[in-house]
Amino acid sequence: MAATIIDGKAIAASRREQIAARVGELKEAMGVTPGLAVVIVGENPASQVYVRSKEKACAEVGILSEKHALPEDVSQQELLALVDELNTRNEIHGILVQLPLPEHIDEDAVIEAITPAKDVDGFHPISVGKMMIGQETFLPCTPHGCMVLLEETGIELKGKEAVVVGRSNIVGKPIAMLLLAQHATVTICHSRTRDLAEVVGRADVLVVGVGRPEMIKGDWIKPGAVVIDVGINRTDAGLVGDVEFEAAKERASAITPVPGGVGPMTIAMLMENTLLSAMRATNMD
Ligand code: NDP
Repeated sequence: MAATIIDGKAIAASRREQIAARVGELKEAMGVTPGLAVVIVGENPASQVYVRSKEKACAEVGILSEKHALPEDVSQQELLALVDELNTRNEIHGILVQLPLPEHIDEDAVIEAITPAKDVDGFHPISVGKMMIGQETFLPCTPHGCMVLLEETGIELKGKEAVVVGRSNIVGKPIAMLLLAQHATVTICHSRTRDLAEVVGRADVLVVGVGRPEMIKGDWIKPGAVVIDVGINRTDAGLVGDVEFEAAKERASAITPVPGGVGPMTIAMLMENTLLSAMRATNMD
């Protein structure tokens, strides 16, 4: 039987509606509008697209967005000074520095300069550490979005074999931690994993974030598995994921499409974090 297609676009739209309602309540109760500062350096076309989508989502849910576009050759000192200023401004509740940054800028130093109270991307070492030890914090948006999609499928994660392919700091590692927190038995695979197909075949829940078009073959997938494909690959045939979708959907019980799966959730979770930050700042959380 073909898999249920997990409609990230629809799930994200419904989350944005809920967020918009809560933004309205916050405005009414406290006179506060959540504010997100988006910092973009240079002209990277993919980054421009992401930033535009974030601005559009903010407008839709009633969050004020403030874009700071800096030239490619901006100095690290100037960028850090901007982050410092945003840290201190009360009407800004979230700060997002669009990655990647140009080579001459130390990305870690910039992320660490963002005050954890406004770290709506969840990339600051304090946010990462808190997530790791199960304390309340801003969860990174893509991994959080994957967890929401899993929740929507109704799958009980406790005791399940979960396999994560990819171990980056923004996708694989945090997803593995969130699955572990839900009591799944988690295996993390990467480029040195031996016999990837065999490990993938054990997964009741498979999350893939590699960045290689359709590298996970449909016939590797355990029948009935739930598959979350984080990959976004631009090919001549258009956008494709890391999982061979057509074949995989014949074996999985549920699977995310690319596009229209994880992608829209990432931005919805960013909106949610910005709202949460504004609620914390006004003691309404
Ligand atoms: P990275 O390049 O940082 O990490 C890729 C990971 O895949 C690494 O851990 C790497 O292993 C592993 N890998 C590479 N080749 C293989 C292989 N042959 N077998 C097993 N593992 C392998 O990418 P990101 O985590 O940043 O992104 C992953 C994908 O997710 C990309 O397509 C990206 O576009 C997409 N993405 C989508 C988002 C969304 O909103 N939907 C948000 C963020 C990313 P090793 O560590 O050993 O090198």
